Amino acid sequence: MKKVLVNEKVSPDALNILKKAAEVVYMPSGDHDEFRRLVRDVTAVMLDTTIKFTPELMDMAPDLKVISRTGTGVDNVDIEAATKRGIMVLHTPDANTLTVAEHTVAFIGAITKHMLFLDSETRQGKFKTARRLYLPVDLDGKTLGIIGYGRIGKQVARRCMAAFNMKVIIYDPYISDDVVAPGVVRYSNEEDVYKQADVLTIHVPLTEETRKHVREKLLSLMKPSAYLINTARGNIIDEAYVVKMLNENRLMGAAFDVLTNEPPLEDEEFLKNPKTIISPHSAALTAECTVRVACEAAQGIVDYLEGRMPKSIFNRKGLNIK
Ligand code: NAD
Repeated sequence: MKKVLVNEKVSPDALNILKKAAEVVYMPSGDHDEFRRLVRDVTAVMLDTTIKFTPELMDMAPDLKVISRTGTGVDNVDIEAATKRGIMVLHTPDANTLTVAEHTVAFIGAITKHMLFLDSETRQGKFKTARRLYLPVDLDGKTLGIIGYGRIGKQVARRCMAAFNMKVIIYDPYISDDVVAPGVVRYSNEEDVYKQADVLTIHVPLTEETRKHVREKLLSLMKPSAYLINTARGNIIDEAYVVKMLNENRLMGAAFDVLTNEPPLEDEEFLKNPKTIISPHSAALTAECTVRVACEAAQGIVDYLEGRMPKSIFNRKGLNIK
């Protein structure tokens, strides 16, 4: 029986799907050294975001045929190297869309209402002063700027229009006009979205084009009253510059689910700043979504092993699969 390595804690449902077609090597610890040791004779890997799948690692696993990411982003896999070696890279782009959109909307509510700050002040006995110290804002009629109008961006737009009556403006040079929902206004100039947004949220993949793209040049265009949200990938944003803006009152707040360093270094400035909200790359980790994503990632591997075409092959084009 072929071996499949699973490098994170996943639901028993997903393990049961795999067990139908493979011997499962389960390492819920996610330990990197253990991974290097166990990957050597496996046919497939079910992979989280913590392991960087380098060409060197691929060469350690000569039988490897499938890498199945439990999530959307595949930026921790060297796609070119995998494709060159004929390794199929699978992901689960639809399984976590709604969940990440909900987390983003929760961030938008929490950061603009200063929820965590007010909670912390109240617990410290500052009930009277906290109420008027750092005033939250209404979202009704405010402008939400979305960079990257793909699966998640679209759902965030829909929810913010319905829940908060926000106006939505977007920047995404790669989509066609017919996917833009009624009421959403598309801009062809990214800078205008930064200038006009009261809340700006990032939903692009991490690519060579987007890496550290959101830095001083764009961030400086934002209104001092605006809020920045990132649930996409940490390396897209210059976090240090965001903190500088918060400290200089040139930005009102920022909420990050994803960070350049995961986990963050102990002394990172944004951890000390009361105008930030941070979650540990957990936007997709709800009770329901973790099961959905793991089962879909497992099913992709089983489909491959049993000779069917998996649903979401990220490097389909590179592998010349029709
Ligand atoms: P998607 O591919 O459906 O949408 C991405 C959109 O970004 C596309 O429409 C694309 O045209 C657009 N885009 C690409 N480059 C751009 C650029 N330079 N400027 C503007 N737009 C650009 O992906 P999705 O499912 O919406 O997910 C978006 C990203 O969110 C993923 O790539 C992943 O990194 C991240 N994500 C994070 C979590 C989490 O746990 N925090 C979970 C799922 C996805």
